Amino acid sequence: MTKSHSAAAVDYASRFGLAAVGENRVQEAVEKRAQTSAAVRWELIGHLQSNKAPLAARHFDRIQSVDSEKLLNVLDRAAGEIGRDLAILLQVNAGNDPAKFGAEPEDTPRLLELALSKPHLRVEGLMTIAPLSQDPAVAERTFHALRDIRDRLSERFATPLPELSMGMSGDFEQAIAAGSTLVRIGTALFGERE
Ligand SMILES: *Cc1c(COP(=O)(O)O)cnc(C)c1O
Repeated sequence: MTKSHSAAAVDYASRFGLAAVGENRVQEAVEKRAQTSAAVRWELIGHLQSNKAPLAARHFDRIQSVDSEKLLNVLDRAAGEIGRDLAILLQVNAGNDPAKFGAEPEDTPRLLELALSKPHLRVEGLMTIAPLSQDPAVAERTFHALRDIRDRLSERFATPLPELSMGMSGDFEQAIAAGSTLVRIGTALFGERE
């Protein structure tokens, strides 16, 4: 995660072999992207307002924080208009955290059904953010919950959903143990954010 760090952080990430960087704000990422020629994929991982969705659809290789029907509709239309096949992950509030964005687990079948019907979106998996807690068991429970949700959805809709984006600097070990395919590391790589 290179959010709040300069384009130099993206250059470092690329030079040391990272294939992708994550950003949480559309405008910041667009500006940063113009300042580097690093060959990385750009991923949006942060709450996306629908008025920013067309810009996001144009500038990101994948959007990991899709959590509503409205966003699916707007992103599909925007991707269609520019002739893109846009990769997305559905963000799930797998830890039932009142402070977090993300679809509620019980709403995910409906959301996935709609996502799969969109011609310009490609659903590659799920993303979650664990509730902040001193107790590692909270993150562990959340990550196992996301994996279970994925397994059930995958079977029910006969679709693979290979990506499980879970784990940050403070909880990546639990995430990997629970089957994460994509950890999102900010602080541990780039230092504290301003
Ligand atoms: C900032 C951020 C991260 C990285 O967090 P660190 O604790 O700095 O590793 C991961 N995921 C999301 C969604 C973030 O916004």
